Amino acid sequence: MIAGGRHRPEDCTARQKVAIIVPYRDRDINLRIFLNHMHAFLMKQQLDYRIYVVDLDKKIPFNKGFLLNVGFMEATEDNEYDCFILHDVDFIPENDHNLYTCAVDQPRHLSVAMNKWKYKLPYPKYFGGVVAMTMEQFEAINGFSNEYFRWGGEDDDSYNRVAHSHMTIYRAMGDVGRYTMLPHKQAVKNPKMYSLMKTGIKRMKRDGLNSLKYKVLQRSDRKLFTYIMTTLDRTNR
Ligand code: UDP
Ligand code: MN
Repeated sequence: MIAGGRHRPEDCTARQKVAIIVPYRDRDINLRIFLNHMHAFLMKQQLDYRIYVVDLDKKIPFNKGFLLNVGFMEATEDNEYDCFILHDVDFIPENDHNLYTCAVDQPRHLSVAMNKWKYKLPYPKYFGGVVAMTMEQFEAINGFSNEYFRWGGEDDDSYNRVAHSHMTIYRAMGDVGRYTMLPHKQAVKNPKMYSLMKTGIKRMKRDGLNSLKYKVLQRSDRKLFTYIMTTLDRTNR
């Protein structure tokens, strides 16, 4: 293990270089369990990987899409990653056959069977939890919307972006895509989520990676992950 939560197999070259991007705020116990599980899980898959935990300035309401965009940009500057895994901190994969890699032609949805929902999808278009995209796929959808603050909507919005970009998604087989969801306090709902979702596709071309303005307030290589604390950059708006 290299500082910053990086690892690559010693006796072979990994097929894919993978950035695991975890949007994060104030979920310390979830994060400890996540890290404790994920390194063993990823090492077994012989991946060349790095775990990024992207945290948001306390002054700003939580924004998962923004944090995923920042994680993507920062990881892209570090290395030529073949695959970006966007990963909720409270999702723990149960099956070692659940490969953390990307497909070249369309995004993969890895978390399709959660204990909390009797190992089924909560609804057919559910696209949250754990998603794998190449750089091309992430750029094709202009990343995530930066406009969803607090809880809800950004994952459904990203599903619509994928569909609108003439891609579909691969879903892991039910028994492979099993996850345990760790308990946590319920986040505060975004009162604007439904109106934002309605206009999501209209905003897609101008709301996302190409409108992203951020500052890195802190970045450090911890033993088990790369920590990034970010904030909105409002200086040149
Ligand atoms: N998250 C976080 N702190 C928060 C809210 C969200 O770290 O206060 C991150 C975390 O990675 C979490 C993800 O955003 O897994 C999705 O949020 P949440 O778990 O609240 O949504 P759920 O899927 O449980 O409805
Ligand atoms: Mn959760």
